[in-house]
Amino acid sequence: MTEQQSVEKMHERKVNLYIAGEYKDSSSEETFEVRNPATGGMLAQVASATPDDAKAAIDAAREAFGKWSKTPAAERAEILFRAGELIRENTESLAESLTMEEGKALRESLAEVKQAYNTVMYYAGEGRRLWSLVTSSETPDKHTMTIRRPLGVSVIITPWNFPIMIPFWGLAPALICGNAVVFKPASYTPILGSKIIDLFVKAGIPRGVLNLITGSGSKVGKALLDNVNVNVVTFTGESRTGKDIAETNARYLRRQVLELGGKNPLIVAADANLKVAVGGALWSAFSNAGQKCTAASRIIVEDSVFDRFVNSFVEAASRLRVGNGLGQGVEVGPLVSESGWQKTKEYVEIGKREGAKLLAGGADLKDPSQNKTGVDLSRGYFYSPTVFEGSNDMRISQEEIFGPVTTIIRAKDMAEAFELANGVRYGLASAIYTTNLRQAFKAMYEIDAGVTFVNQGPVGIEIGASFGGIKDSGYGRELGEAAIDDYTEKKTVYVDYSDAVQPWFYPWRSQ
Ligand code: NDP
Repeated sequence: MTEQQSVEKMHERKVNLYIAGEYKDSSSEETFEVRNPATGGMLAQVASATPDDAKAAIDAAREAFGKWSKTPAAERAEILFRAGELIRENTESLAESLTMEEGKALRESLAEVKQAYNTVMYYAGEGRRLWSLVTSSETPDKHTMTIRRPLGVSVIITPWNFPIMIPFWGLAPALICGNAVVFKPASYTPILGSKIIDLFVKAGIPRGVLNLITGSGSKVGKALLDNVNVNVVTFTGESRTGKDIAETNARYLRRQVLELGGKNPLIVAADANLKVAVGGALWSAFSNAGQKCTAASRIIVEDSVFDRFVNSFVEAASRLRVGNGLGQGVEVGPLVSESGWQKTKEYVEIGKREGAKLLAGGADLKDPSQNKTGVDLSRGYFYSPTVFEGSNDMRISQEEIFGPVTTIIRAKDMAEAFELANGVRYGLASAIYTTNLRQAFKAMYEIDAGVTFVNQGPVGIEIGASFGGIKDSGYGRELGEAAIDDYTEKKTVYVDYSDAVQPWFYPWRSQ
């Protein structure tokens, strides 16, 4: 047994559903496999939930909601604080599991685990705040205020690319606000999903407050969403799936937050610090093998620095070390799945056919004849960091590839750069590298996106500020105070302490 195989063996497990405080097999007893995308090694057998299991989880959450919603928020917070401490104590093993299941380089997994910790601690802190508003009344001797009430059952459906961070973006605020949750992680990463449940169980989450459903979204999605007992849905995933989910939510007139795809522009102005811009663009385009909703998949460079930027960027991209994310010094791991790897290969061919110029990469590293790294990568879904020079109207510039591929686009001036940045159907993240204050402010106000980074690539989301997109990138905002609004209903309360009848037309009658 190789060292890698013994690490995998150590982490191999059975993943069960978690419903009403009990770990359970699927009611059909069916399972599916999860394998390491870097090695093909078996990691887990996972329960494949049925629609009946999904219904049971929603029923359990509905039942638990009453008591949980009446538990003081500061007490709910104690459980979140404990979950946070457990994340901190288990950082290394969580990060190792994350790399084995999803593929990203270990240093990125460590950072992701830290973000999950930051999120749960931030919202645990909210347990002693959960502020709402008292407004000055228009009437004498009256107190007017808005109070917050939890919504009820929250269904949280998450993608595989950040399998511990994104679930916490939903779970932590939903729970602190007093909602009960049914959590459905992506089928490529259910192990991290079940580890999140284990953390909360150890932290003392009451029975039924948090439930886990694993299994194919297309199989259990309808049962999770087409249910009158669900009050709020948070979905992160592809735009097409998000639109289908929005149609169901509309029928129930229920609260929803949709975090969807992106085709994010990173603008490099002629006055930018090019060294910083190259480093930022590299990290944003290729970390997590480009499988990020915020990846810098379009790099728009002002004409006068185009050649200089391209030369440095291409050289740096060609030097990136690709390999098993657990390996020493590895910077780019594999794609998560065969379909992700196939999609990347297809888009590289599309780019070539469209006439884009291949500047770096374009190699299927699974194929020994194309792999020049000197490391055997044939068992994983590896693809080399790929750089095209192309135009904004090409499919490689318009469609989400979700792989290690970026396109550099020339802009004759900054006015054209902003026009190109906005010339896609998405609007999630964006970035500008410039030393000119005027251009920085123009970017803030003129780029159609939910987030703009100035002198930073479009990665590195912080918990205290809201996050989300516009256009096909989504609907609503997560994180910061926005998430408290997502998971609570505001109710307005008027208290009249005048001991008199005060008609609403007061004081006109007396004038
Ligand atoms: P998918 O849309 O395929 O899946 C996301 C989740 O939805 C998974 O848990 C999936 O389950 C589930 N699902 C799939 N079909 C249905 C359905 N009909 N009903 C209910 N649930 C369903 O996306 P990916 O997992 O492939 O994630 C990648 C996408 O996520 C990219 O487009 C990326 O841009 C986007 N994303 C957006 C972010 C943002 O914040 N805006 C952040 C991260 C990613 P299963 O896995 O079983 O199919």
